[in-house]
Amino acid sequence: MSGFQWTFLFAMTSFTGSRADRFRIEAAMFRFLVPLLTILLFQMPPSKAAALAPISLQGDGHTLAVIRGRAVCLDAAGGAVESLFGCAEATSRFGFASKDGRFYKFLPSDTMTAVFTDTRVRQRELQVTARLHAGDQLEIIKVQSVKEGKLYDIFYYCEVCSITAYTPGLCPCCRNELEFREKPQ
Ligand SMILES: [Zn+2]
Repeated sequence: MSGFQWTFLFAMTSFTGSRADRFRIEAAMFRFLVPLLTILLFQMPPSKAAALAPISLQGDGHTLAVIRGRAVCLDAAGGAVESLFGCAEATSRFGFASKDGRFYKFLPSDTMTAVFTDTRVRQRELQVTARLHAGDQLEIIKVQSVKEGKLYDIFYYCEVCSITAYTPGLCPCCRNELEFREKPQ
């Protein structure tokens, strides 16, 4: 064999060798990356994971909570205030003392907490259906009252305009005060 042929053979061997090495490295990286990506996918916040995976096993990532107890006003420091009579002036933040002795706070951004500015609502035993966020924070889905073990839907109504609202205030149509109503389920 001529010098050229030897060089050519050597080049071929080292070429195929390096290809094989690269393949082994790629295979190894693939074996390493797949579990790593799987771990990362499941460690991601549910919203990001949902964007990548067609089905999020955790739903929207929040636990649904149904809790009975009473709504209380919170002071500026986040502590519970004696709240059966007028505390709406002091704060717009509310907490929930459950019958089993736990204490929750409502998300500051939750506009449905406006229902707790109504003294009648705070005086009642309530059942709150809510999304439970980190730090025992609740986001209201539904607030109901409980009387003698029966559930009542709480709402505000304008007879004149047949308008139903879930927070107290003026009727958006005729500007009369909305009427507090409780309807057995
Ligand atoms: Zn009205």
